[in-house]
Amino acid sequence: MNIQKSESLYQEALDVIVGGVNSPSRSFRAVGGGAPIFMKKAKGAYFWDEDGNRYIDYLAAFGPIILGHAHPAVHEAIVEASMNGVLYGTPTEKEVRFAQMLREAIPSMEQIRFVNSGTEAVMTTIRLARAYTGRDKILKFAGCYHGHSDLVLVAAGSGPSTLGIPDSAGIPQSIAQEVITIPYNDINALEEALNHWGNQIAAVLVEPLVGNFGIVPPVPGFLEKVNELVHQAGGLVIYDEVITGFRFHYGGIQTIFGVEPDLTALGKIIGGGLPIGAYGGRKEIMDKVAPMGPMYQAGTMAGNPLSISAGMACLQALSKPGLYEELSRKGKRLADAIVKLADEYRLSVTVNQYGGALTVYFTDQPVVDYASAQATDGERFAQFFRLMLEQGIYLAPSKYEAWFITTAHSEQDVDETIRAVDHAFSQMSN
Ligand code: PLP
Repeated sequence: MNIQKSESLYQEALDVIVGGVNSPSRSFRAVGGGAPIFMKKAKGAYFWDEDGNRYIDYLAAFGPIILGHAHPAVHEAIVEASMNGVLYGTPTEKEVRFAQMLREAIPSMEQIRFVNSGTEAVMTTIRLARAYTGRDKILKFAGCYHGHSDLVLVAAGSGPSTLGIPDSAGIPQSIAQEVITIPYNDINALEEALNHWGNQIAAVLVEPLVGNFGIVPPVPGFLEKVNELVHQAGGLVIYDEVITGFRFHYGGIQTIFGVEPDLTALGKIIGGGLPIGAYGGRKEIMDKVAPMGPMYQAGTMAGNPLSISAGMACLQALSKPGLYEELSRKGKRLADAIVKLADEYRLSVTVNQYGGALTVYFTDQPVVDYASAQATDGERFAQFFRLMLEQGIYLAPSKYEAWFITTAHSEQDVDETIRAVDHAFSQMSN
């Protein structure tokens, strides 16, 4: 495959953009390094790179592009909105209508505030939980990514209920000390942490289905127990639905699991591909937010007409009956085919699939938490990633990411992908 232009653009990028990329997850470091592919355009389920190669896209921009690229309704909404001015700095009717759409779909979000990214949404729910409870500590689950604000870039200490250590340079130890990290799906660790720190914990931050060390669903009863124990201890439950919101049905995954948090953070899909975030929850908690209450949060770009219009068009398209069943069916077809091929080629592969999202891990063990995801074979993944790329299948360049099926992926695209997996596995089994 000729990627000459990507390679030369990468050299130019390295000179002017740090690391050559505007988000580290776009680099190919985790899959052996070298130039990442520079894309030129995208339509439906496909990408075309600067050298003219075509790819079937399973990255979906790390989640938002659930309708495929350049979806006509989203495109029209953006063009139309842009003709009326892109930013007012005043309230608009559309913001109200969009907030009403979100609340109807996710009833636990009694009141809502729009922000500009998932990072902002999560960061603000934490500040709000602290303001509401008057407590400082946060409990999170190891390996779950919640954006890049200081508090959530903290990794586990050495034991289940030890205080965190910074996961990034530039985060003071004093901040890391406010974060307790425990393994996902581990109720004993949660009980232990709450016994120790319960009366100091403002909130537990939960991905109700993990999307950030691959797709890892909660074990039965886990979310219910989190709510019960955290509420008993006087803390709040925050769901980070930045990935899961509108990914698996028209609303939050909280509705599918039948467990409601106190606060929810959204992003990605609800902007139809434009920058957005939103947070919301029980009115009595949201009443703490300025200008109603003492917790400050603001944004020049928040609720801008372009993001709101794109998000509304995206959600309207997603409300089509049967759409999510179709995504799920394709997700399962792909996952089943990959498992079958791995068996045929005697490769150690575990596929975690939920609805239209899946992760292919190179391991013979189940993946239920961060430790089991870390233990999977990264070199095998890198080999698989390259073999798929050469065949025009674009996966996220990390063993910890998901494949996202969009409404634009056709049966033929899935067939082509399965044939590519067959070839990749045949090479890997030699
Ligand atoms: N929360 C989760 C679960 C995410 O996956 C991400 C991004 O990948 C974020 C928060 C941060 O969102 P953003 O990249 O829009 O700031």
